[in-house]
Amino acid sequence: MTEVQKKIYHRPRGMRDFFEAEIVKREEAERIFFEVTKKLGFERIEVPYLEEEKLFLKSLGDDSDVVRKEMYSVYRDKEPLGLALRPEFTAGVIRAYLENGLTQKPQPVLLASSGVIFRHDRPQRKRFRDPWQLNLEIVGSSETFYDALVIFATFQFLAKIKINQVFVKTSHLGCLDCQPRYLLRLKEFLEKNSKFLCPECQRRKEVAPLRTLDCKNPDCQRLYSMAPSIHEHLCKKCSLDFEMFLSHLADFKIDAHKDKTLVRGFDYYTGTVFEVFDKEETLALAGGGRYDNLVELYGGPKRPAVGIGIGLDRVLEIATISYSKNQQKRIALIALSGQTENFFKENLEKFTNLPVIIVDFAFSNQNISQKLRQAAQKGAEYALILGEDELKKEEIIIKNFQDGSQKRVPLQKLFLLLQKIF
Ligand SMILES: [Zn+2]
Ligand SMILES: [Zn+2]
Repeated sequence: MTEVQKKIYHRPRGMRDFFEAEIVKREEAERIFFEVTKKLGFERIEVPYLEEEKLFLKSLGDDSDVVRKEMYSVYRDKEPLGLALRPEFTAGVIRAYLENGLTQKPQPVLLASSGVIFRHDRPQRKRFRDPWQLNLEIVGSSETFYDALVIFATFQFLAKIKINQVFVKTSHLGCLDCQPRYLLRLKEFLEKNSKFLCPECQRRKEVAPLRTLDCKNPDCQRLYSMAPSIHEHLCKKCSLDFEMFLSHLADFKIDAHKDKTLVRGFDYYTGTVFEVFDKEETLALAGGGRYDNLVELYGGPKRPAVGIGIGLDRVLEIATISYSKNQQKRIALIALSGQTENFFKENLEKFTNLPVIIVDFAFSNQNISQKLRQAAQKGAEYALILGEDELKKEEIIIKNFQDGSQKRVPLQKLFLLLQKIF
């Protein structure tokens, strides 16, 4: 007989499966995040995984990496549905802010969210196509206090999960007034040094000169350290704004470093931008900035806003999360016949009302030693064994895997006794 090759399905590249331990850890981190941010006045929001594609095209910019190559668009019968999987949170949150009348609430509105986003990124170490993000947005104020507050909230959260060696890199992208003046100077510089630029920067210098500064190529980075600084080209208002922001950070005792080459990947950013780093890590743990024009861009009133996204995957890798380990005892229910099986089924609800975790329903035809071995492998601390003999005598055996002891107890007293043990 020829062996038929069985089809094995694989998860899509860059996507992940998660199991108990990771999920519990992540949920605990989320719980801490929402606890910290709630105390600072943030309310939770959940937005759909799918949004109109236009929403992202409009806000992120045609030349952002996300729009150019990383967005998952949705098709049906080869026809585009005009929908995309969310590649970030801000667009959806602002859409929800406008659509649900949050503009009418006292401003600013502070919103916190958590979940998976999707990016058709080139998968590499520590980068996934289904990254998890924690997200904060403050909509309806231009006060730089709030820029500092989202960073403060992030630091508080990180401190609670024992990530303490953190600092923030900050910059200011200027306004519609001073940024164009700076861009002229930057373009001059890029033209003059054109032959040293990597191909991607060659392209960007024409379409999005500011984003060249974001290039990860070491040669480009070396060059850009000599580029004219946006900080020296800010108008009076932006300068003052940046100073205020830095002084709020100082008041919060946040370790902040000015970085003139810091730009963010999306077009919607205006004014302050920032990235949070761990001293040991080269990858940013969080990043964000001010986006004063986005609400208007989506057809709403003028509502300045600021936000931050925390890369939960990176954070979880270095976090120490101490959560109360599940103290519940783990037990196996071992029935040696159909009759005895009924006893367990009839009383299953009573078992689930006890602080126990049932690790094994050993109702199969295996012999008792196989059943016991399997129960032990599944981590059972106790087994309840019921055979025909025991049933006739109205007894049941409780086996303790830790000390190997076992004792017979009257069936009638079983739950009383279990309540005592557990
Ligand atoms: Zn300005
Ligand atoms: Zn480059």
